Amino acid sequence: MDAKVQTFLNKMKVVANRTSQAAGRAADVAGKKATEIAQATKINLQIFDLNTECEILYKEIGKMVYDVHQGFEVPSEDMDARMETLDEKQAKIAALRDELAGMKSIVICSACGKQCSKEDSFCPGCGSAL
Ligand SMILES: [Zn+2]
Repeated sequence: MDAKVQTFLNKMKVVANRTSQAAGRAADVAGKKATEIAQATKINLQIFDLNTECEILYKEIGKMVYDVHQGFEVPSEDMDARMETLDEKQAKIAALRDELAGMKSIVICSACGKQCSKEDSFCPGCGSAL
């Protein structure tokens, strides 16, 4: 083969290798980001469920307080048990929020708590500057 053609072909090979390596790296980053977003979504759902459970407990405690006001007997253990469950759930929520905050591609809006992308300048939920 002509030496010039051989050199040309070798150069092409180097470029092709570089391109495929770069593409591989980009896919890696995208894959990692997708996994992280999926993970964040899962955590957000857990937080949502825990918040819903807390809302129910708040209502039950509120009802008990009102029952006391109305002069009904409310066993204090019932109230304590709910308070303790609330403490546990709140601790879980705090831990999940920490986990979310530790994720690289995710920023938590300090105004509304919405999970935003690191590329966002403003929160898509409430418009606050991030
Ligand atoms: Zn916000």
